[in-house]
Amino acid sequence: MAGERPLLRFYHILRKYSMSNVEISVLIFIISYELGGLLMNERWTKIAFCPHCGNDTTHLLKYTDSFEGIYTFFDDEHEIEYDQNLPEEYHLAICETCRGPLLYYNHLGLNGDKDFPKSSLIWPKQKILTEKVPQIIREYYEEATRIKRRGSNSFAGQIRKCLEALCDDRKMKKGDLIKRLEELENSGEIPKHFIEMANIIRLFGNIGVHSSGKNIHSLPVDTIDDFFTAIVEYVYGFPSRIEEIKQSYKEYKQKN
Ligand SMILES: [Zn+2]
Repeated sequence: MAGERPLLRFYHILRKYSMSNVEISVLIFIISYELGGLLMNERWTKIAFCPHCGNDTTHLLKYTDSFEGIYTFFDDEHEIEYDQNLPEEYHLAICETCRGPLLYYNHLGLNGDKDFPKSSLIWPKQKILTEKVPQIIREYYEEATRIKRRGSNSFAGQIRKCLEALCDDRKMKKGDLIKRLEELENSGEIPKHFIEMANIIRLFGNIGVHSSGKNIHSLPVDTIDDFFTAIVEYVYGFPSRIEEIKQSYKEYKQKN
């Protein structure tokens, strides 16, 4: 039986021992199941940025959950809504450097663990400023988020730099940041509470810039981050969103 396929050869051997087809099927099923278990222990990894520790690290897949999500579509031709089930996957991974958990997602994923390398990180989410924000501020902010978990004083200093860049963009006169923020308030560009937030960033930023190089872990990096992104949203995000919603309202009125 030279050249015979391994599984067929295995079948003929078992037949020699007078095993029935049913017994052979059960045996092959058990062996396949065990082999599958072994394959499941395969390591699925990818190198990516870890928002927990702020490094490019190895992310190791621990668990995959596959399911079908229900999506509603609209059929323009027949003017009816219909539901369709589409495959989705969640991958739970850990950062091999800091052991922080990472949740990845795959839309239309069908291959279980094998889809992990092409999945997208959905938690923890790294904040990215929209394209409405000037590029220089986005670049400074991206640098800040990369060092957020590694050095809180450097992070605070970098966010202060983002604030300076925002003043440049709004054409505030060069000088002390405190004066520039006052000018922003007086010009009506930013309301009082946001100016207070900016002043808090300025103060923590001073600690960051003038610190001796040691990390001051007690700096409230998340609050500094939230305040800055709120200011950016107020200055750049809301005006464009207001224009967008006005435009869609106009289109709605024209159709109805
Ligand atoms: Zn990490």
